[in-house]
Amino acid sequence: MIQGVNHIGIAVRDLSASKALFEKIFQVQHFHEEVVDEQKVAIASFKQGDVLIELTAATHDDSPIAKFIEKRGEGIHHIAFTTQGVNEELKRLSGEGVQLINAHGVPGAHDMLIAFLHPKSTNGVLMELCEPAQSTSDV
Ligand code: ZN
Repeated sequence: MIQGVNHIGIAVRDLSASKALFEKIFQVQHFHEEVVDEQKVAIASFKQGDVLIELTAATHDDSPIAKFIEKRGEGIHHIAFTTQGVNEELKRLSGEGVQLINAHGVPGAHDMLIAFLHPKSTNGVLMELCEPAQSTSDV
């Protein structure tokens, strides 16, 4: 089941420059930084209310973030939704004709199980489903 917005991913070229910029905007320090090898990205997160703002930079030239920036420049990359039962939800959405990027959940930042839906079938919005770690262990 898809619940509230978990985070908004912003594609950036230079993570340390963007961290400094967003620290000025939010007037707080980022609270979490992580390299996600599986996704070939490095992230820095800011918690604003219940929603994380996740600055995301490529760690390899063939990272999806590098390709995105090359094509469209920096900017909003994806919106992620907290989802209970990512794999069940992927099955349901696939049955509804939604094109999936990940047929099954894969490891993401914050120890979450994540999966992306293809923007071709979601009005051009790259949507991510993410399942917080504690709920996966409950299954
Ligand atoms: Zn994300």
